[in-house]
Amino acid sequence: MRFSTQLLPLFTSLAFAAPLDLARSDLHKLFVRQDIQTPVNASLPNITIFATGGTIASVGTSNTQTTGYSVGLGVQQLVTAVPELLNISNIAGYQISNVDSGSINETISLTLSHMINEELAKPEISGVVVTHGTDTLEETAFFLSSTVNSTKPVIIVGAMRPATALSADGPLNLYQAVLLAASPAALNRGTMIVLNDRIGSAFYTTKNNANTLDTFSSTEAGQLGVFVNQVPYFFYAPAEPVGRLVFDISSATDLAQVDILFAHQDMNPALFEASYAAGAQGIVFAGTGAGGYSRKAGVAASALYNATGIPIVASHRSADGLVPLKGEGVAAVGAYCGVECGGG
Ligand code: ASP
Repeated sequence: MRFSTQLLPLFTSLAFAAPLDLARSDLHKLFVRQDIQTPVNASLPNITIFATGGTIASVGTSNTQTTGYSVGLGVQQLVTAVPELLNISNIAGYQISNVDSGSINETISLTLSHMINEELAKPEISGVVVTHGTDTLEETAFFLSSTVNSTKPVIIVGAMRPATALSADGPLNLYQAVLLAASPAALNRGTMIVLNDRIGSAFYTTKNNANTLDTFSSTEAGQLGVFVNQVPYFFYAPAEPVGRLVFDISSATDLAQVDILFAHQDMNPALFEASYAAGAQGIVFAGTGAGGYSRKAGVAASALYNATGIPIVASHRSADGLVPLKGEGVAAVGAYCGVECGGG
């Protein structure tokens, strides 16, 4: 077993600041691969886990505590808690960060994307698993779905209860995630989210409940499949979400700052200008209904777009639905995304 807990603080701090002499695009070269079992079993698939933190890696002070716990477990401890993983795969792990998912940042996202692309390009690797906090899990899932170019599976997994809780959900979720990453049935299905016995598409799945185990779902597009007695059953043959784009970000060293503004009755129109003044290079507008906004907000967005040309993309604050490509009174919208570009 080649694992050193002393390395964990180093990994955690790397996620926030690259050393001065290292380009951000090279940051992933510092992460140390941990082969969790030796020797490897040549008859089993090889799966790599990228651990980032979240509730799945958290501990509370009692087994009934299900809020207010803290991140603390490393990738080795996550795997040690589920020894059955080693019956179904050879596991290697990378500790990318150990943070709650609200703190996943540009550096962590880019590192994950670069490393996962490199990992999946190795013929001996069957798939990868990312352990992640659930609060922003869908954002990382969508980002990886849009930047990882592989037919092999990328599975994102989290937990709603900390590892110390009665009926903690993390261990079985992790087992199912590894099982799926190793399954030939998961090929050509892109990035998927596994929690609570369900398999969801990264393109459509969102967290819908702040507290309960059955939080991830996609109401309109539906789930892709389900686990029954730890066997993944897909409902349909592999299919691509309409409009999914895959960007090559292999040489990207930073990501554009895009702010999300949430519409509501009588929204403060100054938020558009304030966002731009604070560095936004694009704005996504979570509009009322199908991308709606108040007259004042429309005037402010229009003025900003006309003055700066930054993209202002209409979306919707409702959990589901689409924004039509050409709506009414949308002069402010620089790029207006609907069915034609993949679902709003
Ligand atoms: N606070 C956690 C997070 O990192 C919540 C979770 O993982 O369920 O998002």
